[in-house]
Amino acid sequence: MNLTPLSPINMASRFSIELEKLDPTVPFHASQTHAHHTWAQTFHSRPELYIRPQTLAEVQKIVTLARRLRRRVVVVGCAHSPSDLTCTSAWMVNLDDFNSVLRVDAEKKTMLVQAGIRLHQLNTKAKEYGLTMRNLGSIDHQSIAGAIATATHGSSLYHGLLSASVKSLRIVLANGQAVRCSKDQNEELFRAALVSLGALGIIVEVEFEMIDHCNIEWVQTIQATSTVLGNWERTLWTQAEYTRVWWLPYMQRAIVWRAEKTTKPPRQPEYNWYGGSIGYHTYHIMLWAAQYVPRLLPTIEWFVFGMQYGFRNGSTISAVEELRSGLLMNCLYSQFVNEWALPLHRGPEALRRLTAWLNGDTATARIPFDPAGLFVHSPIEVRVSDTSATAGPRPFLDNTVVDGPTLYLNATLYRPYGQDPPCLRRYYQAFEWLMREMGGRPHWAKNFTDGVTHAVLAELYGGDLEAYLRVRAEVDPEGMFVGDWHRRTILPPKAELPVLPLEEKEVVRRPKRGGGVEWVGEQARWWDGGVGMGSGRSESEESFDLMVGAEAEASVLLESLREDMDEDDVDTLVGRRHGSATDGFTGTRVFDKM
Ligand SMILES: Cc1cc2nc3c(=O)[nH]c(=O)nc-3n(C[C@H](O)[C@H](O)[C@H](O)COP(=O)(O)OP(=O)(O)OC[C@H]3O[C@@H](n4cnc5c(N)ncnc54)[C@H](O)[C@@H]3O)c2cc1C
Repeated sequence: MNLTPLSPINMASRFSIELEKLDPTVPFHASQTHAHHTWAQTFHSRPELYIRPQTLAEVQKIVTLARRLRRRVVVVGCAHSPSDLTCTSAWMVNLDDFNSVLRVDAEKKTMLVQAGIRLHQLNTKAKEYGLTMRNLGSIDHQSIAGAIATATHGSSLYHGLLSASVKSLRIVLANGQAVRCSKDQNEELFRAALVSLGALGIIVEVEFEMIDHCNIEWVQTIQATSTVLGNWERTLWTQAEYTRVWWLPYMQRAIVWRAEKTTKPPRQPEYNWYGGSIGYHTYHIMLWAAQYVPRLLPTIEWFVFGMQYGFRNGSTISAVEELRSGLLMNCLYSQFVNEWALPLHRGPEALRRLTAWLNGDTATARIPFDPAGLFVHSPIEVRVSDTSATAGPRPFLDNTVVDGPTLYLNATLYRPYGQDPPCLRRYYQAFEWLMREMGGRPHWAKNFTDGVTHAVLAELYGGDLEAYLRVRAEVDPEGMFVGDWHRRTILPPKAELPVLPLEEKEVVRRPKRGGGVEWVGEQARWWDGGVGMGSGRSESEESFDLMVGAEAEASVLLESLREDMDEDDVDTLVGRRHGSATDGFTGTRVFDKM
């Protein structure tokens, strides 16, 4: 998308005054009509400005302007975080035009890249040098900075988080400075920035460690859940470098997917007539029907997974692919995801109790929510990692187990044709209750509910949360990178930490035509009081004067942005649409592998 450099003529006077004070040869590529939404289209928001810098000088100019005009800044990768983490009514910065490879060190197998690069772009470039990323999650659409910011992981006991491959970072802080950090330089900042939640500054460069490019051979087999649990402590997670499981609670079966590196040439999986668009649409329609008759869901589970992977235990599918694509899967439809990390050894108990609860066996489940009449849409995703052997510094907000292997349980809930499933609230309450009891910590990006607060996280993270918040406060004392998600999740309540001058607060979220909610925010201080304008942190008296004016103008501007404009019009206007759950479907090879 080509955004023209913003002309001062189109902007409110305070903007133009401040803009004109800065180097005019550094462009300011921005749009005032951007409609933002998450991949699943569950959250929508309208940033006041959507800015796409192409150089470091442009990034620094954005931060300087935001500070002088008293704006919050949110960096967005491709908005694949399912929560409202990236929603804003203030300034949104996207680094899709800041995505070059800057240096490749063939000997150390590292690549220095601009932080907007998407994982698939990185791997495509890496292949030219005989390299690839060592591990991936289910998709490779994410920007590298976005992926590491939320502790994105794949599924392998032989690997940790994606952040574990980061050797160094460069980050533009709220004062406009670009600072490098690594285990040898600004180590505390590095540990905070490895899983930053976007609340430290704008990461502009990432030095990433790769491995030699290779293929993997994957094999997936249907097994009885009793077999899977029987192997849990033995070979289940160690039999191959990459292993993941889909748990089918009503069928008492699981699909076990495993993959090893190989020198074999690529080989497609056996053709299955149901596996492409027929299966995709059939499943979608059945899920939609189950919105009205939820008790159909166990039969749908039996039919869909039987048609795709086989009705008999032991049915197997296999293929050979490049590592960079072989690890991926098609995530199908818009969905809610609620994923927690817990000690691997708690897995069998957690799965037995959750399965029992879903099947109405409350005595075995011992979960204090009523499962009567509740049916769920999708398999439970079961994955692993092990960060305990990672050599580099540990991110303060790493949610995995410190001294042993980690299990991730992901309660995915599809939203057929954009409709929320009726089981949503009760299922997630029960699931989260169990995860807490199992010693779990939530995946930062996903749809956990309001029970995850600073008090809960302080118990789970102890000194690490404190350390992260201390570094955060040092590098961004005015809260330029703080939003409502951060306040209600990681920051202490306002009684302990008063509202920061640039912090953004959620004002309203309202249902959107076609599904999801529209999120509207405004600078928290305008609503709640908090730190005064004269806190003395601004650069000069002159910019302080400008701030006061800018604040008033921003209120007017934000009001106008709340008008209910049709989103498609907006997209057409600015010629943009980032990835979404509806774009992702190709019609072929949808179900090759889970
Ligand atoms: C279909 C799908 C499949 C997924 N599969 C997995 C999976 O297998 N494993 C897993 O762990 N997760 C998975 N996720 C979650 C996903 O990996 C994370 O949400 C990731 O953070 C998204 O990256 P993004 O580039 O879209 O970042 P965004 O969602 O846009 O942003 C995430 C965070 O990063 C911050 N950020 C982005 N860029 C910068 C920057 N340059 N500087 C500073 N902060 C920045 C943002 O402010 C925000 O706080 C999946 C999500 C989807 C939608």
